[in-house]
Amino acid sequence: MFDYLIVGAGFAGSVLAERLAVGSNKKVLICDRRPHIGGNAYDHYNDAGILVHKYGPHIFHTNSREVFEYLSRFTDWRSYQHRVLAHVDGQLVPIPINLDTINKLYGLNLTSFQVEEFFESVAEKKKQIKTSEDVVVNAVGRELYEKFFRNYTRKQWGLDPSELDASVTARVPTRTNRDARYFTDTYQAMPLHGFTRMFEKMLDHPNIKVMLNCDYREIEEEIPYSEMIYTGPVDSFFDYRYGKLPYRSLEFKHETHDAPVFQEAPVVNYPNEHLYTRITEFKYLTGQEHSKTSIVYEFPKGEGDPYYPVPRKENAEVYAKYKTLADATTGVHFVGRLATYKYYNMDQIVAQSLTTYAKLSGEKRTESTLRIADKRIIVPSSAAAKKVAAS
Ligand code: FAD
Ligand code: UDP
Repeated sequence: MFDYLIVGAGFAGSVLAERLAVGSNKKVLICDRRPHIGGNAYDHYNDAGILVHKYGPHIFHTNSREVFEYLSRFTDWRSYQHRVLAHVDGQLVPIPINLDTINKLYGLNLTSFQVEEFFESVAEKKKQIKTSEDVVVNAVGRELYEKFFRNYTRKQWGLDPSELDASVTARVPTRTNRDARYFTDTYQAMPLHGFTRMFEKMLDHPNIKVMLNCDYREIEEEIPYSEMIYTGPVDSFFDYRYGKLPYRSLEFKHETHDAPVFQEAPVVNYPNEHLYTRITEFKYLTGQEHSKTSIVYEFPKGEGDPYYPVPRKENAEVYAKYKTLADATTGVHFVGRLATYKYYNMDQIVAQSLTTYAKLSGEKRTESTLRIADKRIIVPSSAAAKKVAAS
């Protein structure tokens, strides 16, 4: 008899399995229909021996000390600050848009102060910022919006930015300084031996049994359990009673090239050309040294594995109906990006899962309830790894 059947072995399912098993001595069965643990954060060594992320680039960043310390129980870290270039008007320029982006794009030599004035002169100030178009046009005006955001967003979401909530493009800030980092969070690091190794450590406990290649519907009648934690798509759980919730999908095209470096940055975005949105070169993220290099292209799709909830009013209304149903379903707890229909990053999912655990266990969730981690952030030691990380 299991205390919990956990559906999905991604961040949400794995954090809850670990907490319930270790923190509350519960017997847990965690199943996933995929042949591996880790959910969308799964990484593995490909045929060439290069560590790649099967479902696209996953970069860990958080402002939560609690989340970072919790995960530090299962991994050491490699310090990594993510950088992205966008291919615009035949040049590679930093995104988020910063001082260097404007100077390079327009052949100028502005200072921070002058670029602030420049943004003020081109911005179309909105009374109310409602959509993803409003956010960008309000900050940098229509021309930069069209060069960097309009077409990328149309490609990524199959919708115009004016049809998406402001929160989507608001993920990408605008800067008047030369800071070229994609994220500015306090903690920015990659698991030293990869995400999958970290998940293996989380799930390695006698109270946790893992079943892969297994849809929960195949076993829910056969295996006795008291409560369920469900981290799959919420609409599918309820047999699409209120219709399908749109989830955006991607097709990943992985390639290995017989050269040590493929592109000048960890990620290059292509807002205006090609059917793919971006190319990621994994060695920058992982710091691995290898004579070859592996990359992945992301092609957005309407159909396929669900990866992104689509943040817009119509969808929030449908989700609200499913949420009412979910709240009324006793013995099942809905957690994670697909089950709560939230465009959450990994750290937000960890925080959401720790909150759910606190509710289930009656524990008060404060930082002091977590042991201070004894792991450190490890900075790549060899000069070559440093070069990859810095370039
Ligand atoms: P998932 O990882 O989706 O796990 C859910 C699991 O449930 C899946 O493994 C699925 O197979 C399983 N499942 C579903 N239905 C069933 C069923 N019926 N039976 C059995 N199993 C089932 N976040 C960041 O912080 N940084 C990043 O750089 C970043 N990059 C991303 C890039 C891409 C392309 C994508 C798609 C996401 C990215 N994210 C990133 C977000 C990150 O992937 C998620 O926040 C996180 O993985 C969500 O974890 P989860 O457990 O909620 O969901
Ligand atoms: N975006 C864009 N151009 C870019 C980068 C981002 O238009 O060069 C928009 C796009 O709508 C994207 C959103 O901003 O979906 C969020 O970008 P982020 O890089 O956070 O997306 P994710 O890594 O979650 O796919």
